Amino acid sequence: MVQPNVWKELSAWCNTKNITLVAVSKTKPVEDILALYELGQRDFGENYVQELLSKHEQLPADIRWHFLGHLQTNKVKYIAPFVHLIHAIDSSKLLQEVAKHVQKLGRCIDVLLQMHIANEDTKFGMDETQIEACVQWYKEQPWADQSIRVCGLMGMASFTENTEQVRQEFLQLTQCFHKLKQTYFEDNATFTVCSIGMSGDYEIAAAVGGNMIRIGSMLFGKR
Ligand SMILES: *Cc1c(COP(=O)(O)O)cnc(C)c1O
Repeated sequence: MVQPNVWKELSAWCNTKNITLVAVSKTKPVEDILALYELGQRDFGENYVQELLSKHEQLPADIRWHFLGHLQTNKVKYIAPFVHLIHAIDSSKLLQEVAKHVQKLGRCIDVLLQMHIANEDTKFGMDETQIEACVQWYKEQPWADQSIRVCGLMGMASFTENTEQVRQEFLQLTQCFHKLKQTYFEDNATFTVCSIGMSGDYEIAAAVGGNMIRIGSMLFGKR
């Protein structure tokens, strides 16, 4: 069930901290999305291409759609025309594939590189060395900062009660972000995003410098 009061409090909290709140609506009906839309929420996150396409078609055009799931290269073309931010770029190959499709469309797409920070091998993402190699490669491409803008990093912490571990994992990401910023994006006004924190750990994420949180169950109820 949608939680309007939770949304109001959380959204006000995010505003005071300059944090972007992405409402993660995967598996939830369009009515639930509309309920938060009417309160003023515009950023929504989805994980599955088919579901995103169907919701995009049914819902207001000014919604900013964030794609959070693992994106298969053969599905890039479906979301490329309208997606606002792709959070989970986990290889140069996928970055190249996104570039190929947006060049055809003549638009620019913003993406985040997914960093593997959790102590679990089930989660996708690149380690720090791979991220840096990916950024170096990206910077050499003719379409860099034109067709595609790399705007920052995304990560998911381990699913654990150990808050210190979660904090360390998020810190690993924000430190990597600052290093990349200094080395590759110093004069770049769009490399600004650390997308970390979900319903269970967003306060820890915000405390270590996260500035985009992705909240599902807290706003929409259990999936
Ligand atoms: C589902 C999902 C979320 C939201 O998780 P909650 O725990 O429900 O807040 C955030 N980020 C990603 C990548 C997800 O897949």
